[in-house]
Amino acid sequence: MTIARTIAAARKIVVKIGSATLAKPDGSINVPFMEEFAAQCANMIAAGKQIALVSSGAQVAGISTIDRWARRTDMNYRQALCAIGQVELMNKWSGAFIRKGLHTGQLLFTKEDFNDSLRALCMRNTLFTLVDEGVVPVINENDSVACDEIRIGDNDNLSALTAVLWNADVLILFSDIDGIYTDNPKTSQNAKLIETVDDISALRERITIGSANGFGTGGVSTKIEAAEKVCAYGIPMILANGGCAESLGALAESRMRGTLFLATNGRRHESA
Ligand code: GLU
Repeated sequence: MTIARTIAAARKIVVKIGSATLAKPDGSINVPFMEEFAAQCANMIAAGKQIALVSSGAQVAGISTIDRWARRTDMNYRQALCAIGQVELMNKWSGAFIRKGLHTGQLLFTKEDFNDSLRALCMRNTLFTLVDEGVVPVINENDSVACDEIRIGDNDNLSALTAVLWNADVLILFSDIDGIYTDNPKTSQNAKLIETVDDISALRERITIGSANGFGTGGVSTKIEAAEKVCAYGIPMILANGGCAESLGALAESRMRGTLFLATNGRRHESA
């Protein structure tokens, strides 16, 4: 199975965009990227796909809005920043999608919401309704209410939980890395991109053995956790670089490489 074929076979796609992909080097939100990304989503939706977007960036957008708070580490300020940034983020996503003729709906979740069957049912129903009506759900953690006890903590795991909740056909994580490498690509010339992973436990061991500096990117472990969650449920996951021009279309047309985590459980839940 290739990445392009996995996307071609999928109808329901969860796409996660990380903060590093959404922010420019100066910390401001990359609006041209969002406009282009919305255009790619619109093309896919016009071709019959359904997309749920998990977007990070509330904190980054908050800081770029009120930069004098950038160094505040107190929890109330971090949460207040997310409250400010989430509005900015949604304004920009909403504008980008509306210019492509698509409405967006905001969904903010916490771990507790997924763990509560009634809340999870409501979340699922809302997701299905939005998508079935042609609206693009834009999902983030509810950072302003989530303290440690009820936090998921990262949007890799949040997008995996969302993919399972929605019975998605594939989860695509767009990050600032091209995928999983055999070694740290920043320091090792011999590092090779692992294009397919069919045994996540074996990959984990390889990473641990690989050394403490791993792949030099802090977020690899949550990406592997996300892959474990969805693959066990029968949903493949793609990890790729979201910073490349037209990344979604490029992946779908085999113009860009990434790492494909194959579903370990053959059982697929029926798409509703
Ligand atoms: N929910 C966080 C935010 O919007 C991002 C979490 C993550 O990057 O994984 O700022």
